[in-house]
Amino acid sequence: MPFTPLHMGPGMLVKALLQGSFSLTLFGWTQILMDLQPLLAIITGEGQLHGFSHTYLGASLIALIAALTGKHLAEWGLRLMRLPHLPSSSIITWPVVFFSAFVGSYSHVVLDSIMHSDMSPWFPFSDAHFLLGWTSIEALHQFCLYSGLIGATLFYLIQWWQAKRHARHH
Ligand SMILES: [Zn+2]
Repeated sequence: MPFTPLHMGPGMLVKALLQGSFSLTLFGWTQILMDLQPLLAIITGEGQLHGFSHTYLGASLIALIAALTGKHLAEWGLRLMRLPHLPSSSIITWPVVFFSAFVGSYSHVVLDSIMHSDMSPWFPFSDAHFLLGWTSIEALHQFCLYSGLIGATLFYLIQWWQAKRHARHH
């Protein structure tokens, strides 16, 4: 927080590379759940901005919650946006659901660790904060933005190529 949408950039790149083995919707749902606690802290002015939700332990719990609550939500989203020229299924298997949620919550902690000094990612095991300041906030934002742009381009190129190949076989 407060840059939740930036997390979608790297997610888009992973989606482009893994296609059907990764759910971008579930990844996105996880990003929203991850930043609920900081959002609440901002609104109420109480509690730590990046508290338990932004630790690897908290992120593991949030990934589980995101997976259990997000499967049907994401499947519903898939049915809404189904690409008519592809024989895609609107079922997301549980392994894909859990994988996407965990990639979502852990990548969130990694990226936020670099820029937020009030985090304690390894709580309660250690107060280490290895990644803080590893790169500039500007470089981090650019990484998120460009990985999103490259990911989206790659994703649609692969989809287009698959649709073309599919059309040729029928
Ligand atoms: Zn965050």
